[in-house]
Amino acid sequence: MKVEQTGKLRHGKWNLYRPCLFGSERASSIRTAPSELRQGRKAAAVGGRSVAMWVACPFFMGSEMTAARASSGACNRPVSRILEVEKIDYSFYSTMFDAIVVGAGPGGATTSTLMARRGLRVLMVDKASFPRDKICGDAVSGKSVDALKELGLIDHFQRNECLGSWGVTFSGPSGDHVDIPFTKALDRPIAPGFVCAREVFDDILVKLAVSEGVQLRENTTVKGLLRNEAGAVNGVTVKTPDGCTEDLYAPLVIGADGAYSVVVRELGLDQLDEKHYVAGIRAYYKGVSGFHERNHIELHFVDEAIPGYFWIFPMADGMANVGVGMLSQVIKKKDIKLKSLLGLLVNHPRFRDRFDGAEQIGPMKGWGLPLGSKPRPMAGDGWMLIGDAASLIDPFTGEGIGNAMVSGMHAADWARKAHDADRFDEAFLSEYGSEVLTLLKDELRLSHAMQRLVNWKWLLNTVIRKAGRSEDIADAISCMFDDLEEREKLISPSFYMKVLFA
Ligand SMILES: Cc1cc2nc3c(=O)[nH]c(=O)nc-3n(C[C@H](O)[C@H](O)[C@H](O)COP(=O)(O)OP(=O)(O)OC[C@H]3O[C@@H](n4cnc5c(N)ncnc54)[C@H](O)[C@@H]3O)c2cc1C
Repeated sequence: MKVEQTGKLRHGKWNLYRPCLFGSERASSIRTAPSELRQGRKAAAVGGRSVAMWVACPFFMGSEMTAARASSGACNRPVSRILEVEKIDYSFYSTMFDAIVVGAGPGGATTSTLMARRGLRVLMVDKASFPRDKICGDAVSGKSVDALKELGLIDHFQRNECLGSWGVTFSGPSGDHVDIPFTKALDRPIAPGFVCAREVFDDILVKLAVSEGVQLRENTTVKGLLRNEAGAVNGVTVKTPDGCTEDLYAPLVIGADGAYSVVVRELGLDQLDEKHYVAGIRAYYKGVSGFHERNHIELHFVDEAIPGYFWIFPMADGMANVGVGMLSQVIKKKDIKLKSLLGLLVNHPRFRDRFDGAEQIGPMKGWGLPLGSKPRPMAGDGWMLIGDAASLIDPFTGEGIGNAMVSGMHAADWARKAHDADRFDEAFLSEYGSEVLTLLKDELRLSHAMQRLVNWKWLLNTVIRKAGRSEDIADAISCMFDDLEEREKLISPSFYMKVLFA
């Protein structure tokens, strides 16, 4: 097959190549091609199908094109005019996709997998290379477990690197504690929750996406959004691993690039509201003792950390994820240094014994948590946001993996619908945002209310003390993990009256 260069490689830009190749390129990709491509395209009928495609240089990794580029010595030099390429899986080399997903965290990998399963041609771009760490508590809740089941991945989490967890232990400022199982069915084959280092968790999700046909480009950083003449987003500009700039096109760009999203910044949505943003810090420890026999995750409300909490989550191989998170507004107002606070909590009289002989593995690291008490607009012309980029973290627990995966699942549905209807406009895609908010709004509202209730220390102490002594109250709280209607009681005065007089 012959590949013809259509011009010189410009500094920082990849040039386009026109291969004399015809195949079953999807009509949607051609339809959505940028105008400069559409103008040059000569459709050809092969076997009754009218198709053509374009490729860009950096996709020729391992091919003669790479050799040509390497021999040119730099990305701003011309390469030879005609290149002979023996065999190309052309779908891999296109710069045009049905959807581009920015970020391969749990949100991005979930939506990419499901879009690929629904027949869309998906490019997933991440600035990191996998496996990679993500600063997190590493606790995978019931909602994420349901999403993993839907993806068909749950068996992977019974592996040695992940530790099944059957409940949560809360302790209050006075030191009382209560153990709440996630479920009454303790004989279930799979634990209702897991603690799994994100280095492992995210890698499993990314591998699944690739196995479903998603094209993954690692070490590739999205720098900006591309827009068509009407202003709709229709692609991204990336910095490639070798430092060149490249434009990639799709009628739909999904921002799954987390708390510091470039997509959000480029859309001009990135105002940080300290009342709806938590800063968290985490460290790994080996040898922490005193965990519940069923590997409960632990949330401790300690005077020094309120309105946030100190967490100690047991992990496989005697490891523990230990951290503290607090509303940015409070951190700023009280000038709190989170690293010092975490050091203080680890040496706190209530926890000191458990850390005796334990060793900190690696540094303390901090990251932001954009809360779902103020979600961002989730869709517009040519774009959707999911997960942290959409600000969907639970305001009380700080969990965001579940909502990233759930929003990703809905985004995948809407991506398919958008392609079927050939509608990538805001009016159409905003239905996705409405759907997710309808699903999550009650839960997020409740969690926001709970977050504020934590400021009432006497109430927190009373609930935890009484729940620790009354099976009925502990049971009632346990039911709240699965049942939103039950959870609603947590913000009802009658629940607290019952607790006070129990
Ligand atoms: C301290 C802390 C503790 C937490 N504990 C928990 C917990 O125990 N359980 C829980 O459920 N949640 C927890 N969370 C929240 C959870 O980590 C996030 O909600 C979750 O990671 C969101 O997933 P995501 O896919 O939206 O984004 P991310 O997981 O952040 O993934 C975003 C991806 O985008 C990539 N990216 C970013 N910018 C670019 C770019 N410009 N170009 C290309 N790629 C880019 C990144 O490399 C990354 O791979 C915690 C968060 C913090 C900070």
